[in-house]
Amino acid sequence: MDKIVYIDQSKKKYTKSQFIKYFESKVKQTIRKFNMFEKGDKIVLAISGGKDSVTMAHILNDIISKRGEQLEAILIDEGIQGYRNTTIEDAKKFCKKEGIKLHIISTKKEFKFGLDDALKKLNMNPCTICGTMRRYLLNKYARKLKATKIATGHNLDDEAQTILMNQFKGNIQLSAKLGPVTGVKEHEKFIRRIKPLYFVTEKEVTIYTTLKGFQVKFTECPNARDTFRSEVRTKLNEMENKFPGTKNGIINSFIDILPRIREKEFAKIVNCKSCQEPSARSICSMCELLEKYNQK
Ligand code: SF4
Repeated sequence: MDKIVYIDQSKKKYTKSQFIKYFESKVKQTIRKFNMFEKGDKIVLAISGGKDSVTMAHILNDIISKRGEQLEAILIDEGIQGYRNTTIEDAKKFCKKEGIKLHIISTKKEFKFGLDDALKKLNMNPCTICGTMRRYLLNKYARKLKATKIATGHNLDDEAQTILMNQFKGNIQLSAKLGPVTGVKEHEKFIRRIKPLYFVTEKEVTIYTTLKGFQVKFTECPNARDTFRSEVRTKLNEMENKFPGTKNGIINSFIDILPRIREKEFAKIVNCKSCQEPSARSICSMCELLEKYNQK
């Protein structure tokens, strides 16, 4: 008899082939349910070389290549020595094997500094700096590739953590930017994001990656340790172990109230007065960051 590789919340057991089928159909259902692919869409993948983005890229490539189209991917090299350089190698090998054209954009080339340099100068949360640079460059370069959507590898755990973090910090307006498809307010320069892995857990992604034999490292970014997110992640995992279904409960109730949050909190997107990129404020976060960095 085939080995059991996974048992779900309802105690249903899965062999390798059953799990792969279950996982892929859950992702495809998410894509259909939220209309992630619309007619005429050009999807660009945001890839990092880690398990989530590689899994998302593999499933999307399978769907898109059956239509006779070719996918392109963007990897943002934020300049995290000893970490990003290793995932870049994994991403290059993966994309070559899958026939995906990979574009690597370096923050050092674009802004003349990487995250490691920024942390020596600025007393800021590394993930805030990293996220600002990444979002900015992804949008800018996906637009150059004429993308209409950017697919990211966010999974259910990532999203549940972010929802709780925003709640704990009283930042509900930030939650308006979450959800399986984001950036609903139209702006010609802003590329909407889709999250095909929205309803699969981190554990499920790890099992899928292992069963599929993807050559990725399961190492964590050195800046991810001892952060607010890592604390929320640990507590959420403890809750899930004690009370199975906690993470799904957070996500499902969030999706129910998301339209009301967006109605109330969604900021109008304008062009940044300095760089002309789309922004929720008159000067975008990237231009503010550049100013801080150059002042020091
Ligand atoms: Fe960037 Fe933070 Fe993620 Fe590291 S943990 S890659 S610094 S967002």
